[in-house]
Amino acid sequence: MKKEPITPIRRQYLEIKRRYPDAILLFRLGDFYEAFEDDASIVSRECEIVLTSREMGKGQRFPMAGIPHHALEHYLAKLINKGYKVAICEQLSEPRPGKGLVERDVVRVVTPGAVVEPGLLKQKSNNYLASIVIEGERCGLAFVDITTSEFAATELDLKKLGSEIERINPAEILIPKSFPLDKFKPEALRVTPFEDLWFDFETAKQTLLRHFGAISLEGFGCAHLPLAVRAAGAIIKYLEENQREALRNISRLSTYSTESFMLLDAHTRRNLEIFEAERSRRSASLYSIIDFTRTPMGGRLLRKWLGQPLLDIQELERRLDVVEWFVREELARLEIQDLLGKIGDIERLINRARSANITPKELLSLKRGLEIIPKVREILERNPSLSWLYEELGSCDEVVDLISRSIADDPSQNVGDGNVIREGFSAELDKLRLISRNAKKYLADLERKERERTGIKSLKIGYNKVFGYYIEVTTPHLHQVPQDYIRKQTIAGGERFFTLELKEYESLILNTQERISELENSLYKQICNQISEWAERILASARALAQVDVLCGFAEAAVRYKYVRPKLTTDDLIKIKGGRHPVVERNSEEPFVPNDTYLSSTDHQILIITGPNMSGKSTYLRQVALIVLLAQIGSFVPADEAVIGLVDRIFTRIGLADDLATGRSTFMTEMEETAEILNNATSRSLVILDEIGRGTSTYDGLAIAKAVVEYLHNHPAIRAKTLFATHYHELTELASYLPRVKNYNIAVMEEEGKVIFLRKLVPGGSDRSYGIYVAKLAGLPSPVVRRAQEILNELERRHEKMEVTPRREGEQLSLFDGRAAILKELEELDLNAISPIEALNKLYEFQQKVKRSGDRWS
Ligand code: ADP
Repeated sequence: MKKEPITPIRRQYLEIKRRYPDAILLFRLGDFYEAFEDDASIVSRECEIVLTSREMGKGQRFPMAGIPHHALEHYLAKLINKGYKVAICEQLSEPRPGKGLVERDVVRVVTPGAVVEPGLLKQKSNNYLASIVIEGERCGLAFVDITTSEFAATELDLKKLGSEIERINPAEILIPKSFPLDKFKPEALRVTPFEDLWFDFETAKQTLLRHFGAISLEGFGCAHLPLAVRAAGAIIKYLEENQREALRNISRLSTYSTESFMLLDAHTRRNLEIFEAERSRRSASLYSIIDFTRTPMGGRLLRKWLGQPLLDIQELERRLDVVEWFVREELARLEIQDLLGKIGDIERLINRARSANITPKELLSLKRGLEIIPKVREILERNPSLSWLYEELGSCDEVVDLISRSIADDPSQNVGDGNVIREGFSAELDKLRLISRNAKKYLADLERKERERTGIKSLKIGYNKVFGYYIEVTTPHLHQVPQDYIRKQTIAGGERFFTLELKEYESLILNTQERISELENSLYKQICNQISEWAERILASARALAQVDVLCGFAEAAVRYKYVRPKLTTDDLIKIKGGRHPVVERNSEEPFVPNDTYLSSTDHQILIITGPNMSGKSTYLRQVALIVLLAQIGSFVPADEAVIGLVDRIFTRIGLADDLATGRSTFMTEMEETAEILNNATSRSLVILDEIGRGTSTYDGLAIAKAVVEYLHNHPAIRAKTLFATHYHELTELASYLPRVKNYNIAVMEEEGKVIFLRKLVPGGSDRSYGIYVAKLAGLPSPVVRRAQEILNELERRHEKMEVTPRREGEQLSLFDGRAAILKELEELDLNAISPIEALNKLYEFQQKVKRSGDRWS
């Protein structure tokens, strides 16, 4: 069979497509990006674009779907959000009739983690591309936001990877191809497998050194973190392949340790509704309540801080000092916030300038932003102790000056139109513009001249893209056309002509326009390049501005909501007077009732909080956790007074409702989370337990709940400060034999058979549940209510006979059994190294210990 010849353009397409088999190839053809064949079907389906076909070679038609070039961003968003990768193939040379095939190549591959289009990005969130390598129980993690230049890497325990990934919330995750994808099940959609080679230590190290032009990794603090290096190297390689332009934005790599931050695991972040409120309740997230930032940079930083509370008291005090100043100096704050509101996203803008895809209008907003920085600095300079903050706010007069001199006041969106570069910036450009303007004026005059010469009043000189300049004469006047008119085109109702003179001016105008376009493009690139040289400095200012923005926001929240500065300490202590829940107090219809908290690992370690349903137990628990969290990001807190001993981790085990959605056995999840707490909590941790043991039978639940509290109390390595809300009022008896367990309840009042919630936390346990009252209120028939009361009384009588032998402190685990310790010491005793008299003394000591412990354990 004779093979049909392939047309040159089809061959070009196939060659390029072969290099990007996994991506949808958008092939630029004039004003459209075209997708062919299978890609066309996808584009047509996902973007709701008509599927057509195009002939390429005789008798060969291929399915095709086209996106108008100016609407690329809109359709890219649709494809990227659906998880596709898109390779964008541009025309690299100007199409010229008769000059053969236009040169084309892929300029970038857009993947979810590597987008730069403002329309595809959320203003107040980062868009991260992450990369992971796992080696046994350890892993390396790196992540980059190419729009803000942030690039960081760390090494951590595999156990912590999940919560770290959830914190970063990357849009895309690179993993080595050989790694089993099913291990990433919940994340599978966001995962991009990438060649193993690029995760190899030596290769990755070389990739990084080459990219940064460095000779060692010492300067990045990751020389001793091979797994972090492997993850980071793979990211750079991936960008080299897909988004070369963006590499220019990555000029530093920072390493961090998860140890230096308070750990918030994924479900704690969810339980405390830090970033998102639970959908089923019409409530708000902590973020949305305290976000008073005025810039996108500030918004992104606030998210970061909320996800990574600090353990560093000095850094926190520094933040708090700034907040306090802004609270005191309200005028300074208002002035700064007003300025910040006009600054825009200079972080992303400068990076767009670096990769030369910034529009002229965006350059102007970058300029306006930069002009504001010195004004912000001036205000901060009123307080010299803030020098650490304002010294970072460098003025960028050179860039402001360059943009002012070079960019027109109202530039067109398209560089090359001739309206972007300001008059006076380039003598050559001005000259060309003059020529073009004069030629156009000449043509306008020519119209008048020709009308006079021919006597045709309706004669017109016009222009169109295909035919160029022409003289148009309507049919009734054709007989008046002079000899030197040459026919060009027939139209309805007339003819179009040209003359040699017109032709001459036409070439002059078109040539000049082409030169203008080339010159303007090249000047624009030069300007962007020059600005890029200041990028690092501008980014440093942007980072400082983000801090100023967040801290001003904290001050605004403090003033609006009456928050106070917390006193931070390293003691194991939490003391709050008049604490409030930051979100509930804003949304609740009834006035919020403040409550105190005193938690200390030495005497008030575990608070058992009882009270009927809906009395406010969960709210109280969360409010304590949120106050601690706010204190550890450097914010004031909703309370009258607060002393916060820094907490290394907040654990939560809350409620049933949120597990329903996951479809997993609630009880199993509950126990898994409880196990995690018991295995990881330290005396510096804050543990919030809400109703554990609810997912099983009463006796099981009660038994587990008691055992858990005993363990938290008695285990010498834990002693975590714990708030335990429960409707099992039986748990209050724990306080009778565990000295650091205290009972509290949320007071209610009964009035004429009605339960009134007082919302006040008072010492002592409640002596019963109020389920039957609630049932009565809900309208259960009174015989049922009466009978329920009878059954309850009977159960309670029986329960009294079921007293459990308590486990007091130091009694529960063989691990802490004194005799086990003696045996261990005996085993390790080196008899050759001690004298007979020492041996005798040791024997005596052992005997005493065994006798003592015998008293306790027999
Ligand atoms: P529980 O955990 O005891 O079932 P919640 O903590 O869910 O109760 O509280 C129920 C509702 O009571 C909350 O949604 C809130 O509107 C209100 N509430 C809780 N605590 C307070 C308080 N201290 N002041 C005012 N209203 C409160």
